[in-house]
Amino acid sequence: MATYTPMIQQYLAVKAQVPDAFLFFRLGDFYEMFFDDAINASRELEITLTGREGGGAEKIPMCGVPHHAAENYMSRLIEKGYKVAICEQVEDPAEAKGVVRREIVRIVTPGTVMDSKLLGDSSNNYIVSLVGQDQGYAFTACDISTGELYATQLPPSWELVLDELNVYNPSEIITSESLLTTIRETGAAWGRNMVLTEWTQADEGLLDEHFAEDEALSSLSDLSRQGVALLLAYLKETQKRALTHVKHIRIYEPDQFMTMDPFTRRNLELVETVRERAKKGSLLWLLDKTVTAMGARMLRRWIEKPLMNVSRIEERLEAVNLLYNQLIVREDVKLALKEVYDLERLVARISYGNANARDMIALKHSLQQVPMLQQLCANSGSETLKKLVANMDVCDDVMSWIANAIEDEPPVSIRDGGMIREGYQPYLDQLREASKNGKQWIAELERQEREATGIKSLKIGYNKVFGYFIEVTKANMSALQEGRYERKQTLANAERYVTPELKEKEALILEAQDKMIDLEYELFTELRDRISQHISRLQKLAEVIATADVYQSLATVSAAQHFRKPEVGTGFDLHIEDGRHPVVEAVIQDGSFIANETNLSQENGRILLITGPNMAGKSTYMRQVAVICLMAQIGCFVPASSARIPVTDRIFTRIGAADDLIGGQSTFMVEMMDIQIMTEKATSRSLVIIDELGRGTSTGEGMAIAQAVIEFLHDRIGCKTLVSTHFHELAHLEESLAHLRNYCMAVKESGRQVTFLRKLIPGAASTSYGIYCAEIAGLPEAIIQRSYTLLNGFEKAAVPQAAKPAIIAETAATPIRQLSLFEEDSPAEVAVKKKVDGKSQLVLDQLKGIDLINMTPLQALNLVYEWKQKL
Ligand code: ADP
Repeated sequence: MATYTPMIQQYLAVKAQVPDAFLFFRLGDFYEMFFDDAINASRELEITLTGREGGGAEKIPMCGVPHHAAENYMSRLIEKGYKVAICEQVEDPAEAKGVVRREIVRIVTPGTVMDSKLLGDSSNNYIVSLVGQDQGYAFTACDISTGELYATQLPPSWELVLDELNVYNPSEIITSESLLTTIRETGAAWGRNMVLTEWTQADEGLLDEHFAEDEALSSLSDLSRQGVALLLAYLKETQKRALTHVKHIRIYEPDQFMTMDPFTRRNLELVETVRERAKKGSLLWLLDKTVTAMGARMLRRWIEKPLMNVSRIEERLEAVNLLYNQLIVREDVKLALKEVYDLERLVARISYGNANARDMIALKHSLQQVPMLQQLCANSGSETLKKLVANMDVCDDVMSWIANAIEDEPPVSIRDGGMIREGYQPYLDQLREASKNGKQWIAELERQEREATGIKSLKIGYNKVFGYFIEVTKANMSALQEGRYERKQTLANAERYVTPELKEKEALILEAQDKMIDLEYELFTELRDRISQHISRLQKLAEVIATADVYQSLATVSAAQHFRKPEVGTGFDLHIEDGRHPVVEAVIQDGSFIANETNLSQENGRILLITGPNMAGKSTYMRQVAVICLMAQIGCFVPASSARIPVTDRIFTRIGAADDLIGGQSTFMVEMMDIQIMTEKATSRSLVIIDELGRGTSTGEGMAIAQAVIEFLHDRIGCKTLVSTHFHELAHLEESLAHLRNYCMAVKESGRQVTFLRKLIPGAASTSYGIYCAEIAGLPEAIIQRSYTLLNGFEKAAVPQAAKPAIIAETAATPIRQLSLFEEDSPAEVAVKKKVDGKSQLVLDQLKGIDLINMTPLQALNLVYEWKQKL
């Protein structure tokens, strides 16, 4: 190291502090990177790699980006999951003795981004810290772009950590090495661009100091204190500033909210679709008619965390109900909200000292809407809305500070003046006056010079290099008085001159201008600092505004989609009349979605065993029940003509095939692991949904496991359950399990043509129409024919179990025939009938007559052998 130049030595010392980040090292107008950083950055950013003499034997690899364009390059690295440390010159090069002092001023990581280009408006960007193990986990999540900080303590169950991680979807997790390993091994970061950072330096002293004014601090458990302290220490270390906007800890208990495992969230497509992982097509997409970014983020949080407390749910429903019925109030609320900017992020920028004068105007503009919003809510007739704004601090002082100080249309830069209003500060006004007078003096001089020289085209101009000058065309040069004009610049057909009196005035004008710009900057930052003392007031206000926005969004969608207010209670029975899947219905658009009823009760069955062919609508139906329960618990109206929803503590789903990819495990293994968790965690207040239970292993085993699981849910857990299965044979369970009912999806069949009626009817289906599905999917006719032939063969070999005949449903126009093995025209029945010739009849007769109870296994085996010989 000794052989390196002092500057490179300085670089290496700074770099040693941030081995895992790209170091952007400020050199004049550039940020330079050296050594491996340079090699990697040139590859990632596609910029030229050069070399620099640094005192060593070889040139040092180097690459750089201009400082004014640096943000863009940093963003690209952050997006790729890297960290960037920004190292600035922290003393004036003119005053430096030796190498200019440089320090890291901020480390930007994916979890600590402030740049709005990298942040999605409608979602938070969380960084999470995780502490603990045997005694439970402290889970802390912070979004520094909004200042939100959430803390909870989870019981010692890793599944709960995974659930919570899935809710927050953090872009960075900081924790101990051992937990990082667990995260990697359990696929918690699977499919996400999540940075895992090892960090164990919690600082509880810093915690007490930082949150001294927050009442929540004393309510933190010891473990949670460690969690918050860990996160705070990391944020302070990387951000290197006061974080005045992260001043309130929101503590919650996990059981305040409905629990859902990551697969359930994905399967129900709450905030993104399973396939494209896009918002479009998700429940959030449907419900999001918010008009502010804060509202959009809050709605997402509500959907991710449905409430458990009935009175809180009712409170929300009351507000939604009012806005649902009062179109004018709703529209007025929306109108007021439309003018509100993203206060949370604005306030965060103020705290960071990044806010410019335009941000201030946006803040003022937003605050001007507040009284109107307050009045609308207070007079709406809704108790909830009234309560929401009852003690609202409208921050009108902040609004008038800005209104008095800042011009309506200030420039983007805060270094060029033009921001501060006239009359705000006397000295600034004086300077402006002086500068204005100076300019008038110049205009007067121009007039005098024209007169004295007789040159009509003479003009006085200004540029940054030469300052003020007198410009005369070449043709007129001779008219100038000798000795009076000093030549400064020669152009193609003009000459530029200065005179001593012009120079003198220029000094005065420019001095006034410099002073003005400096003073404006000073006044601006003073205002910004003053506002930053009031950040928590603004944050509270932002939350109220966001809440109002979510209510109007839920009401708007509910009205447009003809949702109805659910009755939410603590009882057991679930009743949904004319239920629809809100998203599928909205996507179909043509009103052809078929509504279905759901009744799950202690009296009339709490387990529905749903059979029916592929594509009949089973999984849509089951999802719809879950989604309706969830919507009710976030306080939204539901897609049904009426609904009585008991509060559900957990929705558990095992649906679809898209979640079979994790860690190379087999579908069946994943299913079994899910079911294991379900058996452990489900309570009688849970809703369990299993699609295609028992698939993925042999028929016999699959059916055995399916039956055992159903019996377990029935006898031990007693929860509401919807199970769909291919195994029609399981229909017999209705006879032995008092709380189970058979249902199926009605299908109309004519010839080989099958129509799915999407209607759930009591009874069991008998066939899957898999080949029919293959046919409409366009498989070659040869395959279809061969499949039917083979199917006939298989079904001849199968011994049908006693499925209970299904009730035949009729609609006015089309008789719906429920298929059963024993019904006249079902393909299976035809197959069995064809087979019953003379010899077979004999076998069947013998079969009917045998006394199974008094037979030994060997006798039975012999009999079967005999039959086989006969057939
Ligand atoms: P299954 O689970 O029985 O294979 P799905 O629930 O996946 O069937 O439904 C198949 C298709 O039928 C879906 O793409 C959906 O668009 C449509 N569908 C399902 N339920 C309904 C309904 N109630 N009304 C109208 N279309 C429906």
